[in-house]
Amino acid sequence: MRHTNWPHNPAFLIRGDSCDSWVCYPSERPTLAAHFSQMTRQKKIKSRRLRCYLLLFVFLFGCQGPTKEGSQKARGAVWRPLNVVVVTIDTLRADHLRCYGYSKIETPNLDLLARNGTLFENAVSQVPTTPPSHASMFTGTYPPVHQVRNVGGFSLDPSHQTLASILQQKGWQTAAFVGSSALAKVTGLNQGFRIYDDRMAESETGGNSSQRRAGRVVSRAIEWLREQSSQTPFFLWVHVYDPHSPYDPPSPFKEKYADRPYDGEIAYTDMELGRLFKAVEQKAPFEKTVLAVLSDHGESLSEHGEYSHGIFIYDSTLHIPWIMTGPGIEKGRRIKGQVRTIDLLPTLMDLLGGDVPAVCQGASLVPAFSGERVRTTYSYAESLTPKIDMGWTELRGMRTDKWKYIRAPRSELYDLENDPEETTNVIRRYPAEAEKLEYQLKEVTSTGVGQPAEEVRSKPISAETEEQLRSLGYVWSWAPLKLELTGQGIDPKDRVHILKLLEEATTNQKRTPAPQRIQLLSQALRDDPTNSMVYFLLGESYEKGRREDEALKIYQKAVQHGVLGLNKIYVRMAKIYGRHGKVDAAISAFEKAVELNPSDLDTQNKLAVAYLMRRQIDLAQRTLRAILALNEADAQAHNSLGWIALQRQDTEAALKEFERALQLDPNLMETYVNLGMLYKARGDYTHARACFETFLAKASGTEYKDSMPQVRRELAWIVKKQGQQVFQTK
Ligand SMILES: [Zn+2]
Repeated sequence: MRHTNWPHNPAFLIRGDSCDSWVCYPSERPTLAAHFSQMTRQKKIKSRRLRCYLLLFVFLFGCQGPTKEGSQKARGAVWRPLNVVVVTIDTLRADHLRCYGYSKIETPNLDLLARNGTLFENAVSQVPTTPPSHASMFTGTYPPVHQVRNVGGFSLDPSHQTLASILQQKGWQTAAFVGSSALAKVTGLNQGFRIYDDRMAESETGGNSSQRRAGRVVSRAIEWLREQSSQTPFFLWVHVYDPHSPYDPPSPFKEKYADRPYDGEIAYTDMELGRLFKAVEQKAPFEKTVLAVLSDHGESLSEHGEYSHGIFIYDSTLHIPWIMTGPGIEKGRRIKGQVRTIDLLPTLMDLLGGDVPAVCQGASLVPAFSGERVRTTYSYAESLTPKIDMGWTELRGMRTDKWKYIRAPRSELYDLENDPEETTNVIRRYPAEAEKLEYQLKEVTSTGVGQPAEEVRSKPISAETEEQLRSLGYVWSWAPLKLELTGQGIDPKDRVHILKLLEEATTNQKRTPAPQRIQLLSQALRDDPTNSMVYFLLGESYEKGRREDEALKIYQKAVQHGVLGLNKIYVRMAKIYGRHGKVDAAISAFEKAVELNPSDLDTQNKLAVAYLMRRQIDLAQRTLRAILALNEADAQAHNSLGWIALQRQDTEAALKEFERALQLDPNLMETYVNLGMLYKARGDYTHARACFETFLAKASGTEYKDSMPQVRRELAWIVKKQGQQVFQTK
């Protein structure tokens, strides 16, 4: 696979097979000084090669290119030093567990847990997507309060108190082990955790995968558990991702559930969780440990025309399993009344004897353990994914034990008691019920009569995060900078045929051949010409098939339609222009992307490098300074500034910038080479050698395949030189 990024960070590397790339490697010149002097000499020669030397860039072409202070004061009650274990099983439908009445699966460990504790039959999630749902669990608030609204582009602000931050402040040992990059530190969910293990497995191709099996997550969690002292209470969060699509259980579950791989993933997860429960039991006695196991959302499995989750807010994706065990939690009880993920935090705080933050919207479920009623009548739900990903309307709803109301261009009301599958919209028959729930909805969204539409702002995500999310199947999971939730526009339920086309075109399971994929996506585009995701996917398919002109036409069409997320479309266009050597056009497209989203620092960095390619040093420097003004910790910007300093022969400044870049991001491969060359020029062979060795050990063989031989030569030269020095001193 060719590298996806254009342009690459500046470095002393070459891609020697094309004169369109900018050769910069001083292969025959052992010192940087000599390199510079040769550059000066060559300035006189008008040749393409000269330009290459002057620009000094690697050019890897791809085919596609409540404040934290003071947790609540103790309210007279003394904190109980109980251990807390929260296990979240991603994408798990309640009705696919045996303890919830599903006979076609074996889930002995969760079933045992249910017998030893309390099971909530009617638990619901607030959002059918991973990071927002977890944010609701751990803050006890709805998304309009915690503002984690979708996958990518949102992170939990440090001003929020989380279960982990409260417990850490009270002296608990805290650790989290997550199974997917969808919950990487960048989501902000790591706050309060001393250990936040979001390191994924290595993928088969040598790079990093975006997820890891439950077995690995559980093993890491058990290792941590064993290290804990039994004197200090702990809070452990384990997240397992396996039931999420694609459904690919390991053997023997693969064979045993050959026709139901989703169930196979669940059965496998149950087995691994059995190990965890055992380890918890060995470490911490039952009477000292509260254990909660729940899911972040369900899975549609084709119900309502949806295949996975994230678009609709029907119970297929909102109804979740939830089981709790521990002191004060009755064994074998099954609670019928509705409970919500926002109730997790207040329930745990109640069991531990602490107060909940004032902002918390959930209620303690502790009274329910002894059969009393709890204040969980209304449950708010939302999905912004249809708007952000597809350009449709966002969905918001209110649920009770009896009713589900969904606010949409054509609103819906379901009688859950008589129609739990939500097949018959009865809004015309019960307008008063719908009105009552709409009133409750406005209370949560603060968009009463005369109030302006709610405005949502996203944060830019890094290229690395974007890649990770894409490999998890979130193909267009970055929100535009700002969007208004008006409730107006295309009703998602009128577009289920688009979901079908997208499913057929993109599902991992089927591996749709490229021509068919293009055909399906073209049809989707004809039927839904303002759908950002379809433009993106179709353009990408053309790019993969090296039909970049057609890709460009698709992107230009997206620009004409003014779809959401245009900044990302401009970035794609810029990369194509760049790969075709049209650097000016690339600059112009990058400029438009930055204009639409000035806080997209990754694109600003690319723009700066493109300026450097055009020798517009001042413009590049201004852009890089602007990046650092927004985020001083931007490693790429420091690397580029180091490069500019080198151009000006200010080696001290260059050294400072390169060192800072690596301090900020030890994985910025180009910087190792830059720094290595600089050390070499200064005669510091020890450090130069270390830099080259690190590069060769860490850099991806695929991504840097063209640079590897030259760095090896460079290293060999240094090793030889060091040998000579040793010889001379003898
Ligand atoms: Zn999830």
